[in-house]
Amino acid sequence: ALSMRLCAPATNDEIGRLTLSFNQMVEQLETAFKRQKQFVSDASHELRTPLTVLRGSLEMLLIGVDRGDIETSRRLARSMSSEVLRMQRLVEDLLALTRLDEGRRAAREDIVNVRTIIDKVYDQAQQLARGQDIRSDVAANIFSVRADPDRLQQILLNIVENAVKYTATDGCVKLVACNGVDNTVVIEVRDNGKGIPAEALPHVFDRFYRVDSARSRIAPQRIGGSGLGLAIAKELIEAQGGTITIDSIFGQGTTVTIRLHAVTNDVEVTPQSL
Ligand code: ADP
Repeated sequence: ALSMRLCAPATNDEIGRLTLSFNQMVEQLETAFKRQKQFVSDASHELRTPLTVLRGSLEMLLIGVDRGDIETSRRLARSMSSEVLRMQRLVEDLLALTRLDEGRRAAREDIVNVRTIIDKVYDQAQQLARGQDIRSDVAANIFSVRADPDRLQQILLNIVENAVKYTATDGCVKLVACNGVDNTVVIEVRDNGKGIPAEALPHVFDRFYRVDSARSRIAPQRIGGSGLGLAIAKELIEAQGGTITIDSIFGQGTTVTIRLHAVTNDVEVTPQSL
């Protein structure tokens, strides 16, 4: 039904213009429709993999229980539990994306103290680290930003989680925040981990994209990740008027950079000053 197009002679008159904008609309609809179909197919595939793993484990668990093999049963139950957790995270991510697609960008817009957020993420990063050196460096005169504080913290945590995940245990992950040009605040998460191959870099913000997807699928509980983290981060940051970019050198490390509008003191109206 969406493959219709109007044909009109290439004229400058009103009918010509209407035809053109109608055809453009149809094209946009087609693109959205294709995207939606791809999303459903990718999401189903992502859910099928952990379900297959769970089914296999459950069958083995039943055999183990029948044989009275407590140790094996316990090990299987544990791995099933982590697989269920992974599925739960995936479903949460899928719901987050669906809400974004629906345009329900009900982002709370508060004036957010960047240092407070970085400090919280730093503490969480310490918990995540498996030996990596976690550092943070926030400029003394850092401006605030207009953003949703919970979402910003969640996004930064996801990025830090990646940095820790893809960095050797003797590596380093650093959170850096400073004021940028044109009234922006720049937040960076730098790591000196495995890095991303140049040919993969343009795709890391795509939904479901994982650089090493074969390995991620074989050992999902170890590598984790659905390939949705950066896609969600990008949509959320852009919904708050910001940008997110990634730089990486394969074998040397990765830097994710977020830029948000700064709230400079002269526009900030505090209740005391009224
Ligand atoms: P995932 O849930 O798999 O982590 P993301 O969308 O967060 O998905 O990231 C997409 C892919 O980008 C990851 O699978 C990983 O291959 C790569 N990646 C992201 N961050 C880093 C990093 N700091 N170092 C190396 N590779 C990374």
